[in-house]
Amino acid sequence: MIIKRTELSWLERMYFPTLWSGLRVTARHFYDTLFRGGRVTMEYPEQRWTVPEGYRGAPYLVKDAEDRTKCVSCQLCEFVCPPKAIKITPPGPAVDPTTGNVEKRPREFEINMLRCIFCGFCQEVCPEEAIFLMKDYSLTGLSRKEMIYDKEKLLSLGGVHNDQIRKWKKKEAEAASQEAFKPE
Ligand code: SF4
Ligand code: SF4
Repeated sequence: MIIKRTELSWLERMYFPTLWSGLRVTARHFYDTLFRGGRVTMEYPEQRWTVPEGYRGAPYLVKDAEDRTKCVSCQLCEFVCPPKAIKITPPGPAVDPTTGNVEKRPREFEINMLRCIFCGFCQEVCPEEAIFLMKDYSLTGLSRKEMIYDKEKLLSLGGVHNDQIRKWKKKEAEAASQEAFKPE
């Protein structure tokens, strides 16, 4: 099927009406900025947007109030991540004696921020509340390698979450209750 193009009039071929409508928009913004305080630009990056609560920014790992890694390398987040941005290396059978009763924490945990789509699935699926989407929306790097955040970097950016979900406390509480109910 051949669609016939509409013939432009003489005036339209001059492009003045289109130019004029564009200039009108520019003039309106110019007037608003000067006389109505309606600034639509900011001095980025010195000035930044204040993002609302619940904003889904970059995902980072968090520590508990005792400064210990909350992640137990269950790999659920790695499994659900749509663009496969997460790569976890579990600790293997060797248990670090300093970790007490907690058998698993990741040996390495990487998130490729170039792949991440900030969907929040990792946060939703995490049973330990160990990974959170923070408010960072501007991530930069000079190379692709730099944009793959390792465990140390993710933990330092995530900081401490002082919530009630603490695997360490749970284990200690279980041990204490077993001790309390021991037969004499
Ligand atoms: S926010 Fe989405 S894409 Fe990014 S790491 Fe989490 S699950 Fe993957
Ligand atoms: S961040 Fe959460 S979901 Fe991902 S491996 Fe660690 S404990 Fe599991």
